[in-house]
Formats: sequence, structure tokens, C-alpha cells
Amino acid sequence: MECYTIRPICVGWFAEAEKSNFAYQKSAGEKLSAPILMYLVTGKDTCMLVDTGCCGEAWARAHHHPLLQTEEMQPVNALKLLGIAAEDVTIIVNTHLHWDHCFNNHLFPNARIYVQKREVHYSLNPVPTQYTYYESPQIGLSPPWLRAASRLVLVDGDVSLQDGIDLLLTPGHTPGFQCVHVNTKAGRYLIASDCVGLVENWEENQTWGLPTPSGIHVNLEEYYHSIRKLLPLTDGAHILPGHDPRVLEHAVYPPEDALPSG
Ligand SMILES: [Zn+2]
Ligand SMILES: [Zn+2]
Repeated sequence: MECYTIRPICVGWFAEAEKSNFAYQKSAGEKLSAPILMYLVTGKDTCMLVDTGCCGEAWARAHHHPLLQTEEMQPVNALKLLGIAAEDVTIIVNTHLHWDHCFNNHLFPNARIYVQKREVHYSLNPVPTQYTYYESPQIGLSPPWLRAASRLVLVDGDVSLQDGIDLLLTPGHTPGFQCVHVNTKAGRYLIASDCVGLVENWEENQTWGLPTPSGIHVNLEEYYHSIRKLLPLTDGAHILPGHDPRVLEHAVYPPEDALPSG
């Protein structure tokens, strides 16, 4: 089976994120400095992005939360620093269509964009608490993914994207959420995005004996079903969350010291 390399790319920072937004019923009122991440997955003939990051500072200030984004962090510039041109990206997977995960789809002109069908439908008429997350028409905005709508490929359920890369439907945070399960030389990695916002979400919850869902969710029953589906697929060390600074401790996954010797 083909093995891939995964690079987390920080495209901005939430300066003061509410921690309970990431971990349900935990740490209310506590603030957290949290990166906004996209993941570059490369292989023999593969140049793929999982998510495309957020808007710039001014748009975020006007419509979301303040964030910090240097010029080097802007997604196209950040990729350029790794020797990748925007035109080189041929596959985008959006884990979901919240603004901080799909804002820049249109900047990658040669990419086909894989999204769950139910996520696309939902994003046009979400629950009111998620209007801003989707930049939905109900508040006079236009969902950012529409700028590249002609390149969408709608998927439905669990799908093998290609050898060694699977898309796993894992609703809860949003109805059409998908995780990306990627084979590497050190085993499978799960790019979990906002299904597991922080590493500590995955550490055992003392109250319930299960990982903690995001504080932002549309359906907790489905969310726990998704968690139970993911539990056997990973030992926790191989989870790449959506907004945890600890992800950036390694530039590349698997890290050198995780590779089998010989
Ligand atoms: Zn989200
Ligand atoms: Zn997010």
C-alpha cells in the first residue's frame, strides 16, 4: 500500500479562543491560543490538501473572531515556503465547510474538491447557531466554498479516495463531517480536524470514559457514534486534531523517530 507524508500547516492563530468551544462542558471561560491548520499530504504522485484554512484578519474581525495571520501564514504563501505552488495541488478534501476549513478552496485552480454531499446541503441551511460558521445566506453572506463550486466532487459515506487514503463519514460536529485516514511508513494517521479539536479531547474523559466532543456540534448521539467508530482505528498517538498547538511540535508526520528502523 502506498505510504504518504503529512505536514501540518499553520495558516493563522485564534488569539483568544473559548476553550469550551473545543471541549464540551470543560473549561468554560478559559481562553486558549489555538492554531488554524490545514494538512498537506504528499505521495509518489499525490499533492493533496486536507482543508484550506481561514480568511484574513480583517474579514475575521468583521464576521468571526479576531485572528492573527502573517503574510507567510497565508495558505498559498505557506505552501510556497515548502516548495509547492498552488497549481500543484490536485486534490482538496474538506473535512467540513466551516469557514476556517474551506475559505481558500478557490485559490487552488487544479484541485478537485471532495466534500460529503450532506455537508454541502446542510451548509446552505444550517441551525442558526452555525450561520456564521458557514457564512450562510441567512445572514447575508455567501459560503466560501461556492467560489469553487464547479470543482466539487460530492461523496456519500465512507469512501476510498485512492490507495492508502480513506474518507470516513463521522458526523456530530457537523452533519457531513469526514475524517481522513492516511497510510504512512509508521502506520495509519487520522486527520481528525474538528472532530477532535484538541489532543486532550481524545484523552479519556474521566466522567464518561470516552473522548470529549467539541463544544460546537449539531448532534451528540451521532458524535458519540463517530467517536466509537474511530476508537479502534487509532491508538491516540496517531491523531491529528484541528486546532491543537501540539500538532506543530513536528513539521512532518510521521516524525523521524517514529519511523521503523532499517
Ligand atoms: Zn468546525
Ligand atoms: Zn475549525
